[in-house]
Order: sequence, then structure tokens, then C-alpha cells
Amino acid sequence: MQKTTQCVHTGTRKDKSTGGLNSPIYPSSSFEYLDAAENIYPRYYNTPNQRAVVEKLCALEAAEDGILFSSGMAAISSVMIAFLSSGDHAVIQRDIYGGTHHFITADFDRFRIGYSFVANRPEDIVAAVRPNTKLILTETPANPTLKLTDVAAVSKIARAHGIPHAVDNTFLTPYFQKVLALGADLSVHSTTKYFDGHNATVGGAVVAATQELDDKLRFVLNATGTIMSPQVAFLTLQGVKTLSVRMDRQSANAMQIAEFLGKHSKVQTVCYPGLASHPQHALAKRQASGFGAMIWFEVKGGLQAGKQLMDNIELWSLAENLGSLESLITHPVTMTHADVEPAERKRVGITDGLVRLSVGLEDAEDLIAALEQALATV
Ligand SMILES: *Cc1c(COP(=O)(O)O)cnc(C)c1O
Repeated sequence: MQKTTQCVHTGTRKDKSTGGLNSPIYPSSSFEYLDAAENIYPRYYNTPNQRAVVEKLCALEAAEDGILFSSGMAAISSVMIAFLSSGDHAVIQRDIYGGTHHFITADFDRFRIGYSFVANRPEDIVAAVRPNTKLILTETPANPTLKLTDVAAVSKIARAHGIPHAVDNTFLTPYFQKVLALGADLSVHSTTKYFDGHNATVGGAVVAATQELDDKLRFVLNATGTIMSPQVAFLTLQGVKTLSVRMDRQSANAMQIAEFLGKHSKVQTVCYPGLASHPQHALAKRQASGFGAMIWFEVKGGLQAGKQLMDNIELWSLAENLGSLESLITHPVTMTHADVEPAERKRVGITDGLVRLSVGLEDAEDLIAALEQALATV
């Protein structure tokens, strides 16, 4: 079955009592024992709405099993809890989602877990591996720098050392990038973003390459209880049904906008993996079937110009979120990455004038006209 068809059909449980095509929402927290082998309790995570989403994500990643969480950060922190103990060490890509970065720097010392932040080149990752390294975590494309990591190369290193490799696949989703097929062990998602796609929910997911890895995560989920609710699972399922058309259209829009920005006299630099000017364009083409809908660019004039643009933009919403069908614009220095030390921001390339775009489903011409008008005020 093709991925577009998987998005629409896999996992969905029709309403047998009425013939309704949507899975009903199953809100029960108590279930009578119908079958002694199947002990249903929502925190164990096998109610029908959650199973439906997991089956869709597993079909897209060609995986056996996965777990849903109450947020992307619950998914990421559960991976940390599942694979890292006191005395262990983790190798983590330096330019990673701000919340992930913050969790590591704020809490790992307290649990006596060592970590090395490294550049996203495979040789840097291999150099950072220690005898007690128990997890490699990467994110590609990275939020917000859009640097790419070679998933196959890093997975090869991880396998040689017997260390699980988790990849935050939020930006491209398995519709465009199948990280497990590239060799990763865990594909981690904030479902808040493209899977939902409608700015309606907060959720997370991890899809595992083996049942053994999945079982470790399931144990953490049962212990911490950071489960996705049936109501959120229902909306997430509805979102994934249209993932293919949204991803195709939003990335086509992004390509047009990136090309427009590339030619604009007030724009210093534009970064989009689909542009030949992206330093890793060849890798983008090799490991993904689409370039996604995230762009960053730098307005000439730094912080002041960035603020001016944000104050004058129409149509684009100023919001920290991304991946929805509405186009969003973010200024990382004052918004998503305000918690990250200025020196660290500089090191990963988040400059004061950097503006991040999450391109939505509107007409590309309207989106470009709004950018044109705002850039004229700078
Ligand atoms: C948003 C995001 C997260 C965190 O997800 P939440 O659902 O907000 O907890 C993690 N990784 C990436 C790449 C993200 O964009």
C-alpha cells in the first residue's frame, strides 16, 4: 500500500454500530474484563483510539510498534529515562530543539548523567562516544537551524557500538523521511506539529525498530503515566489522514517562498534544504523524499530589522508552534530559544536577525505578498 493510502486508511476503526467511517472516541477509564489476556487500562495504552494512531504511524515507518505520549517533550524525556541511568553518558546533537536542550542542561547533572553536545557530522559523533555512552540523539532537519544529520551514517556508528540511535523526525515526518529504514532505532515525534496539523492538540510519539526497544519505553510510560488521551488520539488520527496532501502542498509553497526570499535585496541569507544553496542539499535529496515546510532567513539589519519585520507582517501568525496548516512566523532569539544562553545560540548559528517560517496551506502568492509588504517596512 502506498503511503498516501496508508495515511487515509491504516488503523482506523469504523463505528460498527452505525457504520460511521470515523473511529468513535472511547472515553472509558474502566473496562470490564472481556478477555483475561487483554487487561485494558488507559495508562497501559491499548484503548482503541490510541491503537489506531499507533497503527497508522507504524505503517508509515514500517515499524512493529510505537507509543503515544502527552507531548513531544514527554516522548523525548521518556527516551532519556528509558535508556540513561546514573553514570551513563549520552551523545547529543548540539543544535537540537530548545526544549530538549533545556531539559539536558537543566537536569542531567542532577541525575549524574553525562552528555556531550556535538556537531552533527558523523565524525564528531564517533569521536564523542565513550565506553559508558548509552544513547545517541539527533534531530534532522534541526529546529531551527535546518542543519541535517546523515541518519544512515550515524546509525551505522551507533550499531557498531551497540548504542540506540534516536532521531527526532518531527520536521519531515515519515511521510518524507523514514528514519527507521535509514537505520535509526527510534523515530521520535512531536505530534503537535505536522501529524495534528491543525493547531488543535499537543502530543508525542515514538516508533521503535524492535519490540524490545518498544517494551523499554512502554515500561517508562506505565511508570510516568504521560499518555495521550483518547480525545487527542482521535484528533491526531484525523490529522494524519490528510498528512500527505498537507506535506506535499506546504513544502511546494515553502520552495516558492524560499526562492522569493533568496532573490530579495533585504534578505542576507535564506536556508531551506530544497535550495541548491543549502550546504547539505545533496543529503536532503538522498535521505528524504521531500524538503519540508520550514525555512529560516536572516534580514539585513539584525535584531532591530527582525523585530520590525515581526511587527509589520500580516497573514502570518506570530506563534511558537510549527507544522500547522496556518502559516506561522517565529523570532527564535526572543521566542523559542530565549532560554538558551546567548553564547550557545551563537555557537549553533541562531543569530539575532534570524526569522523562522512554518509555511502553511494558504496560497503561496498571498504568503509572498505579505512577506514582501513586511520587508518593505524594514
Ligand atoms: C515542538 C518540538 C518538540 C517538542 O514537542 P511538544 O509537543 O511541544 O512537547 C520536540 N522536537 C521538535 C523538533 C519540535 O519541533
